[in-house]
Amino acid sequence: MTTLIKNGRIITATDDYIADILIKGETVHTIGKDLAVQVDQLIDATGMLVFPGGIDPHVHLEMPFMGTFSSDSYETGTRAALYGGTTTVIDFILQKQGNSLRAAFKEWSNRAKGNATGDYSFHMAVTDFNDSTKGEIKEMIDEGITSFKTFMAYKGALMIDDRQMIGLMEEVNKQGGMVTVHATNGDMIDYLVQKHRDEAKLSPLYHYLSQPEVTEAEASERFADMTNYTGCPSYIVHMTCEGALNAVRNATRRNQKVFVETCIQYLLLDASLYQQDFEGAKWVMSPPLREKKDQVTLWAGINQGLVQVVGTDHCPFKWEQKLMGKDDFSKIPNGHPAIEHRMELLFSEGVEKRKISLNKYVEVTSTNAAKIFGMFPKKGTIAVDGDADIVIFDPTSRHSISVNTHHMNTDYSAYEGWEVTGKVKMVLLRGKLVIDENKCLVEKGYGQYVKRKKVSAII
Ligand SMILES: [Zn+2]
Repeated sequence: MTTLIKNGRIITATDDYIADILIKGETVHTIGKDLAVQVDQLIDATGMLVFPGGIDPHVHLEMPFMGTFSSDSYETGTRAALYGGTTTVIDFILQKQGNSLRAAFKEWSNRAKGNATGDYSFHMAVTDFNDSTKGEIKEMIDEGITSFKTFMAYKGALMIDDRQMIGLMEEVNKQGGMVTVHATNGDMIDYLVQKHRDEAKLSPLYHYLSQPEVTEAEASERFADMTNYTGCPSYIVHMTCEGALNAVRNATRRNQKVFVETCIQYLLLDASLYQQDFEGAKWVMSPPLREKKDQVTLWAGINQGLVQVVGTDHCPFKWEQKLMGKDDFSKIPNGHPAIEHRMELLFSEGVEKRKISLNKYVEVTSTNAAKIFGMFPKKGTIAVDGDADIVIFDPTSRHSISVNTHHMNTDYSAYEGWEVTGKVKMVLLRGKLVIDENKCLVEKGYGQYVKRKKVSAII
């Protein structure tokens, strides 16, 4: 199968030019001006932007959590991602405490294999680090799982203590991997949750008030200190606030590099959404939404190069599941649906409103994640011999986001009524046209597991 994309404006993290792209099979064969070749499929991209397929390195599909499962399967979640221009996602495997990493890897692989519509890879969340887990780190890296997630919160469920953290960092560093972290102070949050419950303060607002900024700033600083000590490559997921980013900024003063991811919701939404009765449960996530001043910090952080990645932490639940916490905020399943909207929202609110450049947009939605997590240059750019994962984007089309038109398996939208400028028109994944004018042209099973290379602390 050969495809020619004519006359598109190709945007990568570094380039911006008009040319044709010839695709043979799954990869890009030639990029050039006025390519005159016979092909099976011709796409006219005149007036369109042409981006590398988006990479969302933070999603939770069919994840067992708080007594239920996140509501998007590998099929529906990766399909919704494709509709929104994200061709590859990295999901999180959760080790069960007392069990092996291998067992968790098997369980997650079985759920995903043959079911994913778009490409996927895995991080491994280590929730129980001991001598036997230590022996499995290299095995996981050989399987293509080169990043290890840790939780400094969710005490009693997912959290590991600092002793385990240091041990894990030393082993991961030795084996060529990276440690990533949910950086909030689990003990403080645990204390505040209990305090609010004891005082019968049970609405979603108290989810927010149980995780003040200091809990994230403190843990981010502690994590940076520990990675500085161990020398382990490090990445903080879903950063939300000024205090946490300042901890990373301080770390740069001793010549340390800590990668930072934020998520689309922390750039666009704020904590005022919690000031409405139970409706606020739609945005109950951890960490919670913050203040306007934190949004300013995060946008600035992107432009200063301190924040390298914008993900989603997509972890959708249906309203019925959110109602599990109707009388107690601590029982509301944490997470919100966003996998489909990241690329369009960031374009509209970031590029269109002149907060970030087009090249920066590609960097934070695709290229940096590919580089940091060992998929570049196969993924994350448009280049000869790379996978033909390509988004053809209409920068002027206006539309609004709604539960009535989204493709995620949730019965509400966290962005209902948002007006967006710019629309994903076509998407190719490994050379195949998978989205064409709001139609998905592939079935589940097309998505493949992406075995990742060792990480790089330099991008
Ligand atoms: Zn997450």
